[in-house]
Amino acid sequence: MLPHELLLFNFGGSFMDEKRLLIKGGTVITPFKIIEDGAVLIEGKKIKKVGKIDEVKISSSLKTIDAEEKYIVPGFIDLHTHGGGGYDILVDANYDAINKLSGFYAIHGVTSFLATTATAPHDVLKNAMKTLREAIEKGTGGAQILGIHLEGPWISKKKPGAQPVQWIRPPSFEEFMKLYEESGKNIKLVTIAPEVEGGLEFAKKLRELGVTVAIGHSAANYEEVVEAVKYGVSHAAHTFNAMNGFHHRKPGTIGAVLSMDEITAEVIADCVHVHPAAIKILVRAKGVDKICLITDSTPYAGMPDGEYTFAGMIKVIVKNGACRLPTGQLAGSVLTMDHAVKNMVEKIGLSLKNAIRMATHNPAKVIGVDDVKGSLETGKDADIVILSKKLEVEMTIINGITSNLH
Ligand SMILES: [Zn+2]
Repeated sequence: MLPHELLLFNFGGSFMDEKRLLIKGGTVITPFKIIEDGAVLIEGKKIKKVGKIDEVKISSSLKTIDAEEKYIVPGFIDLHTHGGGGYDILVDANYDAINKLSGFYAIHGVTSFLATTATAPHDVLKNAMKTLREAIEKGTGGAQILGIHLEGPWISKKKPGAQPVQWIRPPSFEEFMKLYEESGKNIKLVTIAPEVEGGLEFAKKLRELGVTVAIGHSAANYEEVVEAVKYGVSHAAHTFNAMNGFHHRKPGTIGAVLSMDEITAEVIADCVHVHPAAIKILVRAKGVDKICLITDSTPYAGMPDGEYTFAGMIKVIVKNGACRLPTGQLAGSVLTMDHAVKNMVEKIGLSLKNAIRMATHNPAKVIGVDDVKGSLETGKDADIVILSKKLEVEMTIINGITSNLH
């Protein structure tokens, strides 16, 4: 049994039948403010009250979780993840695998996520849309699927990263609409290369549907990004990775992302994909409200080191916190959101409050769900993580209940 499966047994669903639950005694990070000796009262699926213990009125019969000496923070939201714990969203496109994957996320503090696909033939994507729609409508036992992030296939062959070049194709709104309908209109984010022919009009149409459009796997220069922003591009997929770097006379995609307030920026905070110094520059340039921590995780996140075969044909080696092809090229991350937060604090020197914000409220805002998710406030969904002082996940509460897969 894998460690995360064992942990899931320990979660239990003991609060499932309780209408009210009080978490008390810890440091609450909302993440807009810090409340020492704080408490969070949950009623049903929602947060009823947040404040100092004595402000949050308590009846003695209330079910209580003691969080003294711990942090009480909003659940993490991962906008960009392809899998983990041995499960792959695109390859294992069936309800059972997606449900187990949702449990893997939950034990790493993720309470909701965008299921992220990669470049693939139309039928493969169509099948994934169908499965994900089913999982969204049925619900999952662990982290909640907020929607779908299509990373490709409408990207640039000049910047494929680990995406299969043979399936990269020019933007087609017609193809998008077929996938959109199949998904039950659950596609929330699309990563495209706006500089390819038809890219700008494509971005505009997606934006008009209310879909957030990210630039990624793109060879755009600075001027092309400035233009793309006018057509609705507002987000950058894994900033620094698979895009044109910075030169002082040719600022490239990075120059645009770093200098334009209109663009929010994802970063893979494993300190493998991006050097800590580059993450520090990103933080200084964008400020704490424009950065989203993501994992971009492969199915090998949370798996022991070793050799694996991806999609039945590609050999990958997982070692020292990285997943690489035999050539040494990075092939996605083995990062989890709890480690992303920890890295931002321990390796980048961010305050926990700001790191938490980048893993919660900021991603919620990017896809327009910040009215219900991403912060501990009255009326919002009861998505909560309890962290130890060492920033390890001790409990995850999703929509008012502890993760219960068994
Ligand atoms: Zn990705």
